[in-house]
Formats: sequence, structure tokens, C-alpha cells
Amino acid sequence: MTEMMTRIVLAKRPQGSPTPEDFRLEEAPMPQPGAGEMLVRVVWLTLDPYMRGRMDDAKSYAAPVPIGGTMEGGTVAQVLTSDNPKFAPGDYVLTHSGWCSHAVSDGKGVRKLDPAAAPLSTALGVLGMPGLTAFAGLHEHGRPKPGETLVVGAATGAVGSLVGQLAKIYGLRAVGVAGGAEKCAWAVEELGFDACLDHRAAPDAGALREQLAAACPDGIDIYFENVGGKTLEAVVPLMNQFGRIPVCGMIAWYDLGGLGMGEAPGPNLLPRTWRTILVKRLSVRGFIVTDHAERFRDFISEVPEYIRDGRVKYRESVTHGLANAPSAFLALLKGGNFGKQLVKVGAG
Ligand code: NDP
Repeated sequence: MTEMMTRIVLAKRPQGSPTPEDFRLEEAPMPQPGAGEMLVRVVWLTLDPYMRGRMDDAKSYAAPVPIGGTMEGGTVAQVLTSDNPKFAPGDYVLTHSGWCSHAVSDGKGVRKLDPAAAPLSTALGVLGMPGLTAFAGLHEHGRPKPGETLVVGAATGAVGSLVGQLAKIYGLRAVGVAGGAEKCAWAVEELGFDACLDHRAAPDAGALREQLAAACPDGIDIYFENVGGKTLEAVVPLMNQFGRIPVCGMIAWYDLGGLGMGEAPGPNLLPRTWRTILVKRLSVRGFIVTDHAERFRDFISEVPEYIRDGRVKYRESVTHGLANAPSAFLALLKGGNFGKQLVKVGAG
């Protein structure tokens, strides 16, 4: 009998918010590795907001997933067979095989993981791409100084939770914005944020701004932008002179489509925002984590130490089974995750 693997493919492009019908679970014959290649089985799959952008056929910093193509994504996998001298059966590796149970790899861009050094799942979260995003974005574009005030949205998520905790370690006041009382309580009580405000409970940007003004009595020096929407609108007028806004993401607006496509509802705030940038001499800087690969060495020599000594905590939301990846992803886009969203695909 032919051995089979499973994968989740993009069935069609979403119109607005994605739905379960945009994905399809497929079975396919097990891929056969060629010379110099290896066959791996996936243990952990990470779900990340950027995958929403890959579902649109829009100009961006990366190509879209084609219709019928396997959804893109980072994975931790175990080598089953290998004709690659760098990897042996049994090795755990960090790879980018996508939403699937098994994959063939030539080893390029694949990193061996030591399961004794840290839980394997952390290579996709606090010690992986989201962790590096927080670290590099904060250092390169936030340029934090002790005594300053930082605000971060999606404050209990993979990126935001590390941004806030690093800010505290570096001597800043850290104020989070998150969805719901439980997330906000965790940010303050467990992660050590000075305050965390519930954007879902605030009726509009003005109400959120009032709460932010009270939580940031000296104004805001760094706004680490993960979300856009109401939070961004609330923050901008509170920025201090020479403030910095590393633009990491804008999840509230991902369903509007790609660059130049779709308009956000509501009044045009661009003239007022632009004027604030000028008058306050703000630095607003978009970045993609891959711009800062050279920061990985600093990151990995600093952050694991903070985890060991308890100064950095992290949380994971685990969904079991590849078939449940689409529903977990749709929930992530609406705040259904609490910490790094992962899918446990296979044993290990
Ligand atoms: P998270 O783990 O933070 O999960 C996403 C969170 O976004 C949800 O849990 C939810 O949190 C929040 N959210 C969803 N909708 C809204 C909304 N309308 N308004 C406010 N918040 C909302 O994801 P990540 O930490 O992986 O990513 C955070 C951001 O960083 C994303 O924008 C992502 O695209 C970006 N990113 C950018 C990278 C880059 O290279 N530039 C690399 C990695 C991530 P809550 O319930 O608290 O509202």
C-alpha cells in the first residue's frame, strides 16, 4: 500500500476575513527524497499572522501561496531518512516545510535543534522568528533608553510579550494593550508590565486614548506597532517629541488586502497623523524580521539567559492535529490565541 502524507492547501483566496472554505486538507503519496535530501516528519507547526498576507494575490515583500499550494509555515521536524551528511535520522530540525505532516528537504536553510537545550516548540516562538522580531525591532528601531515609556499592542502574543518584558529589563515603563481582562491581568501579574489596557472593552479610540494617557503620565517614547486600528489611533497623539514607532505589523487591517488595496472605514486621519510625525519629529520605521538576521547571534546569547533566570516568561496555545490548523489560524487572527499559537502535528 502507498504510504500517504497529509497537507493543508489554499483552496481559494479570501474575500475579507478568511473562512474554513479557503483551506483544504489533502492526502498525497509520501514524498521521496533524492540524492543529498532527507525525509522529515513534522512535530510542531507555527501559525503566524503573516500567513494571512500570503493568502492574498497582492504585491508584498514575499510571493503569495498559489491556489492549491501548501500553506507556508515554519516547523520543527524529525529526520526520518537522510542522504544529507549534515543530518542523521532522529535529528530534530527547524525547517520551513509548511502545513504538512511530512516533507523532503535538501537541508538548505535548515537548522539542527538540541532538544536538551530548550523545549523544541520554543524554536518557533520565544527563541525563534517572533522572538527575534521583538528583539531586533526593539533594538534597531525602538532604540530604548532607561526611564522611557513603551507601549505595545497584542501585548500577550508571541512578539508583544517579549517586547514588553525586554523593555522592563532595560529599565523602561512598559504598557501593553491586549484583548480581554484575562490577557491584561497576565501581562501585569506574570509578565511585569506596568499596566495593560483592554482594547476590546474600550468603545472607541478616544476612550482608549484616555486610559493610555493615564497609564503613560510622561507620554509615549516608543510605540511598538503590532496592530494598527483603534490602538494606533489612540497612541499617535500621545507620542513624545523624537518618539520612535517600529512598524512590525497591523493585524487589525490585514483583511483589507495588500498594498494599495482596500480602504479602512472611517474618517481620513492621514493629514493629522502626518502632521504629528512632522511636529513631534517621530521616526516611523517599517521592518521585516529577515532584514535583521545578523541580530540572531546577540538575540540567542541574551534571551535564553532571561528565560533561565525567570525574567522572561512565555506562553503557548497548542492546537492538536494538522486538520485543526485552519480553525486555529482563523482564531489567531481574531485574538483566540493566548501566547504563541502552535499546532502539534506529530509525536515528539
Ligand atoms: P500574536 O501572538 O500577537 O497573535 C495575534 C494577536 O493580534 C491576537 O492574539 C490579538 O491579540 C491581536 N489582534 C487581532 N486582531 C486585533 C485587532 N483588530 N486589534 C488589536 N489587536 C488584534 O501574533 P504575533 O506575536 O506572531 O504577531 C504580532 C504582530 O507582529 C502581527 O501584526 C504580525 O503580523 C507581526 N509580525 C511581524 C513580523 C515582521 O517581520 N515585521 C514578524 C512577526 C510578526 P488580542 O487578543 O490581545 O487583541
